[in-house]
Amino acid sequence: MSGGLRLILLGPPGAGKGTQAKRLQERFGIAQISTGDMLRAQVAAGTPIGKQAKAIMEAGQLVPDEIIIAMLDERLDQPDCRKGFILDGFPRTVPQAEALDKLLQKKGLALDAVIELAVDDAALTERLVGRFSCAKCGANYHERFHPPRVPGVCDVCGSTEFVRRADDNRETVTARLEAYHRQTEPILPYYRAQGRFYSVDGMADIDVVSREIEAVLHECCPEKLD
Ligand code: ADP
Ligand code: ADP
Ligand code: ZN
Repeated sequence: MSGGLRLILLGPPGAGKGTQAKRLQERFGIAQISTGDMLRAQVAAGTPIGKQAKAIMEAGQLVPDEIIIAMLDERLDQPDCRKGFILDGFPRTVPQAEALDKLLQKKGLALDAVIELAVDDAALTERLVGRFSCAKCGANYHERFHPPRVPGVCDVCGSTEFVRRADDNRETVTARLEAYHRQTEPILPYYRAQGRFYSVDGMADIDVVSREIEAVLHECCPEKLD
């Protein structure tokens, strides 16, 4: 692959960013960068950042920009990002989007596409409260929309242990959707104005969404897909 594929997936909690980012990671060998996963790892390890982030995440609010931006700055320098990356859950505020532009400029990198997964609010709560993942390999599932092929057994690694996120309960989900509309949605016009902005129907089936994303990539940067 020439030059590396650099993408942002935007959309509310439950839009399907993680599901699609994992597929893109497998398909193109590029790094999935989920600031949510990075924060959950910090919480699990009990680091100073984790201690600060835990209560904020449980309340469904956003972790301060400075923490997130510093984390991302370091993450983009990891060797697995050399072939490209997908940002999943970042940026989430206008200051984060502006900081990302500066970081990329400093590192001499450019984005190929910013892809919005557009989903009705009404569908999101159901997606989030039914979400679970494999405790061993992290594969994502949904009770109704994407259950394992053999009930209780992970498709990917065969594990029989699954986990749910502490913040995927109705109360926290309501706060997260509110935070999305108030703090994250304003970055959509920011990227629309920059060009390379695409919107995909996130209400379609998971496989259909994947195909639509691939169609976007064929349009924006066909030279990077071989
Ligand atoms: P989802 O994919 O369901 O939207 P994430 O895993 O991306 O959730 O994020 C979980 C939580 O981590 C968020 O509710 C927020 O508290 C925190 N978080 C993740 N990414 C960011 C970010 N870029 N800025 C601020 N907070 C973040
Ligand atoms: P995000 O990372 O944007 O918060 P996820 O990728 O974790 O969202 O998806 C949320 C839940 O919805 C998961 O349980 C996932 O299996 C399911 N899901 C993802 N995409 C779709 C889709 N297109 N249709 C139905 N369910 C979906
Ligand atoms: Zn697994």
